[in-house]
Amino acid sequence: MSTPSSPGQAPSLSFSGVDVDREVVVVGAGFSGVRTLIETRSRGLSTVVVEAGPDIGGTWYWNRYPGARTDSQAWVYGFPLAGVRDDWRWEERFATQPQTYGYIRHVADVYDLWPDIRLNTRVESAVYDEDDRIWRVRTDDGTETTCRFLVTATGQLSLPYFPDFPGLADFAGEWYRTSKWPEEGVDLTGKRVAVVGTGATAVQVIPIVAQDAAHLTVFQRTPNYVLPARNDALSEHDVDVIRKNFDEIFDRAFAQPFGMDMSASAGRVAADCTPQEQQQILDRGWEAGGFRYLFETFDDILTDEAANELASEFIRAKIRSIVRDPRTAELLCPKDYPLAAKRPPLGHYYYETFNRDNVDLVDLTGHELTIEPAGIRVGDTLHEVDVIVFATGYDAITGTLDRIEIRGRGGALLRDRWTEGPRTYLGMLVDGFPNLFMVAGPQSPFANIPVVSEVCVRWLSELLTAMHERGAVTAEPSSAAVDRFSRLTEEVIDATVLRRGGKTSWYLGTNIPGKPAAAVMWLGGVGSFRDLCDAESGAGYPEITFDTRDRQPIASAPDR
Ligand code: NAP
Repeated sequence: MSTPSSPGQAPSLSFSGVDVDREVVVVGAGFSGVRTLIETRSRGLSTVVVEAGPDIGGTWYWNRYPGARTDSQAWVYGFPLAGVRDDWRWEERFATQPQTYGYIRHVADVYDLWPDIRLNTRVESAVYDEDDRIWRVRTDDGTETTCRFLVTATGQLSLPYFPDFPGLADFAGEWYRTSKWPEEGVDLTGKRVAVVGTGATAVQVIPIVAQDAAHLTVFQRTPNYVLPARNDALSEHDVDVIRKNFDEIFDRAFAQPFGMDMSASAGRVAADCTPQEQQQILDRGWEAGGFRYLFETFDDILTDEAANELASEFIRAKIRSIVRDPRTAELLCPKDYPLAAKRPPLGHYYYETFNRDNVDLVDLTGHELTIEPAGIRVGDTLHEVDVIVFATGYDAITGTLDRIEIRGRGGALLRDRWTEGPRTYLGMLVDGFPNLFMVAGPQSPFANIPVVSEVCVRWLSELLTAMHERGAVTAEPSSAAVDRFSRLTEEVIDATVLRRGGKTSWYLGTNIPGKPAAAVMWLGGVGSFRDLCDAESGAGYPEITFDTRDRQPIASAPDR
């Protein structure tokens, strides 16, 4: 898979067929949509990005909650494009929401993307017109836009999940969702605050809110394995080193299973080491911070139950050593599911926060919380609060796509095809939906999103080149290829410990009541995903049907 790191160096593309408003319509202006726009425009394809929100950035526009920051290193939470390497100043290892949001807006400025982005506009339907072999995209402003290629870049965590909490309508205080945090911020100083949820979002919110609130009560249904982030500021020297080694850094991220700037492999499994060595290695990973604990200690943490339990127990011991109140420490220890069966959050003094006098933890085991005018009731106890912060997660991966009426050949509805879970070829294509391309969509790798987007966009750009060269009007995968890839995606998950424990996890879809457990993501890592993509393109796209009917002679477009 090779595409120049500076868009504009690749030849322009052109396609025959009926006239369209734009060659490409992209749904969503988050990181994936922005990266797609840079690519398609550089290939000479007229493109419009349609975004429901009032600005670009997707999750980084909406998630303005206190403490929001990336869990990936800032310098790989971006694009490996020369145009935005030398003039961007990464400030911290894990960039804050304002820094990340600022970065994506900066990218839009540098590449002059704004004229091709339509904000405050929601895509309601996209219907494939079989006669003209184009897509008809309808938006909530009553407009229809025709295009040859429909690219969905709707984000993996973009549709908030908000359970129906009984009594909320009568709550006398204020309440907020982290996923729709007010732009002007919320002053929590001196207030009694509740946080509901203990996922990656809540784990970022809790230590910050605890500093301002008079009192903070955390409502926990399931404890998480929280890894210390060990954030730090980046010096000018650090930034120089990043800029000088930018290409190698991204090569490393492309090879690292989860798209991070770290080693692809620890080079050992837990059983290779003595118990003393095991503890030393885990301790080094813990002290190094971030996901190094998972990826640079033992290579079998996700696949071997004994190795996983070793790493899980190490974390429990850390929790017990950090949290002074033994009862609270026990409640914070995950005990009945393996490490990584739920996405481990990165903490910024998370466990330490429970040592504060103004912070309490409420265990929801065996209870549903109900809300009363004065606060939150759990069993016999009413916890009086002024403000409730809900951090209850997302209908991930398929939620947003399911809300759009996407119809392929024969009027088939995409969400009806996916009632048992998504089924794709390489996470990017669907049989029966010609020229529908998904960037960082269902069954794409569970990894650092900008890296996943980069891999998808580069591969789709190559596919478009192949179509141009063949004079193809449409590309569509075979049903057999979709079956095989979807089965493989399931098998990869089955080879891990991730299904064990029966706990809810958004990366199986089981955090949403009634949603079937399915392989909604490729858990085999970025490298193996790229190998599968390269195998398809390298072999001349054996699994993809190119429709070249009514081929018009194509005048070779000049190189740009
Ligand atoms: P989440 O991990 O799904 O956590 C949702 C929390 O809400 C869980 O603790 C869940 O409990 C709880 N919850 C749900 N329904 C509830 C109910 N009816 N009563 C009580 N509690 C309830 O969602 P998230 O924290 O928003 O994180 C989602 C993903 O977003 C993360 O895994 C991560 O990939 C991404 N994220 C990334 C970053 C970053 O990279 N910086 C930051 C934040 C989030 P159960 O566990 O029992 O279901």
